[in-house]
Amino acid sequence: LQSQLAVAQKVEAVGGLAGGIAHDFNNLLTAILAPAELLIETLSGDPESVRDVTEIRDAARRAADLTRQLLAFSRRQVLQPRPLNLNEVVTGMTGMLRRLISEDIDLHTSCAGELGTVRADPSQLEQVLVNLVVNARDAMPNGGRLTIETANVEIDKTHASTQLLVTPGSYVMLSVHDTGAGMSPETQARLWEPFFTTKPKGKGTGLGLSTAYGIVKQSGGYIWAESEPGQGATFKILLPRVEVAADSLATAPLDAPPRGT
Ligand code: ADP
Repeated sequence: LQSQLAVAQKVEAVGGLAGGIAHDFNNLLTAILAPAELLIETLSGDPESVRDVTEIRDAARRAADLTRQLLAFSRRQVLQPRPLNLNEVVTGMTGMLRRLISEDIDLHTSCAGELGTVRADPSQLEQVLVNLVVNARDAMPNGGRLTIETANVEIDKTHASTQLLVTPGSYVMLSVHDTGAGMSPETQARLWEPFFTTKPKGKGTGLGLSTAYGIVKQSGGYIWAESEPGQGATFKILLPRVEVAADSLATAPLDAPPRGT
């Protein structure tokens, strides 16, 4: 519990700082990117200069990608929480996720029937799922099996495997399992820290899981990992189940405005 608290405070502090910097940085990057694009066109007769300016543009683009992630990470407010069926989120994203992973990875989804409703922001949950799937992909450079699962879960006492005090109640579980490299206990201890990454420079930002952590916490849920080196990894999310009148649950596309009076 103590370490969870420390992580939460760290995520909070870095989030505030990073958001401010990222915002100003983004404006500066636009001032580099726009003229660089222009120069590439006007210099088209001079291949050497075009190559140099292209390098500037590509570096600025990478920096812009990083600031976008920082902004997403620091965006503390839940944008639009609404009653949600996680099966719809998963099914709606399967095509996109398949394109995100390599052909050597088999993607399986296992959606529970009669899945309970949760209350969350769909686009933020999509971001969480993308982050988990990208990590699973990166853990399986030689291919493997990726399984996304949903289930109804009842918690009646401390959830043994999370070592967290999960408030007893009804939850919906979303889990992402891979058959990849797995994680050492040292890595698992630092997993949720902002900027913690074991990926090579330029590949990882160390913000994927801390972002996921922040979003899940804001939605009143829990997230944890189960893994052993060489044995793959499973990331599990519990979101509290909410009661909704059957006819108020939107079966319309995810970004349709909420129905109701
Ligand atoms: P990043 O992906 O940019 O490194 P994350 O916060 O998403 O940042 O992940 C932090 C670290 O956690 C990764 O660098 C990796 O060491 C470890 N990790 C996360 N997911 C997995 C996984 N599915 N299998 C093995 N290691 C993982």
